[in-house]
Amino acid sequence: MSLSDEELERYARHIVLPQVGGVGQRKLKGASVAVIGAGGVGSAVIPALAGAGVGKLTIIDGDVVEIANLHRQPLFGEADEGKAKAQLAAEFAKRLNRFVAVTSKPERIDSANAERLLAGHSLVIDGSDNFATRLAVSNACVGLGLPLVAAAAIQFQGQVGMFRAKPCYRCFVGDAFDADDCDNCSELGVLGALTATIGSFAALLAINAIVGIGEDQSGRLHLFDGEKFSWRSIRIPADPACKACSSA
Ligand SMILES: [Zn+2]
Repeated sequence: MSLSDEELERYARHIVLPQVGGVGQRKLKGASVAVIGAGGVGSAVIPALAGAGVGKLTIIDGDVVEIANLHRQPLFGEADEGKAKAQLAAEFAKRLNRFVAVTSKPERIDSANAERLLAGHSLVIDGSDNFATRLAVSNACVGLGLPLVAAAAIQFQGQVGMFRAKPCYRCFVGDAFDADDCDNCSELGVLGALTATIGSFAALLAINAIVGIGEDQSGRLHLFDGEKFSWRSIRIPADPACKACSSA
């Protein structure tokens, strides 16, 4: 996968980094990332990945823009109320970088369609807002052997984890939430700047994993407290009884 003169100029500030270089930039171009959720987390993830030159980007979201989304979803404007988020987010990414092949899937991902929607990608970033979706996505990633970056933000708290086969996201949350598809955000609230922080961190994890920068973060959960301004990270143990990954 080679880079044109125009791409070399565009990604110059990446390529000059010894950790990235031309080799890393070509890895980004060769990557295919599925982003679930063009919400608060997705609004930071999508510009970061498109700007970084990830070769293929699939944006999956079945929602339409509501005015109450705008405090944390800068991909959209006031005139977008009622329009499909996946399509608008894809248009944003295309405007930002024409070297990225962007596909929009304006449908809600669930256990019935997750494997079909995610197959063929090299990495998945889940910024969805409910446990039922996150667990369905995690199961599909285990089944397809895809690395998953799971990111969530609520009130002033955020968490981002990278899961690769075992432990999986289900090892972390268990089986109690498979039927929980409520949007907690609308009940509990979330600070807009927090979702952007968590989304940017998720994009950083994904980019470093694709390029191969730093220590492998698989099985590690990073927790951010937006009131105390502190990050901490914990290691997630594999659950030997996990119904998703214990037989993987
Ligand atoms: Zn598991």
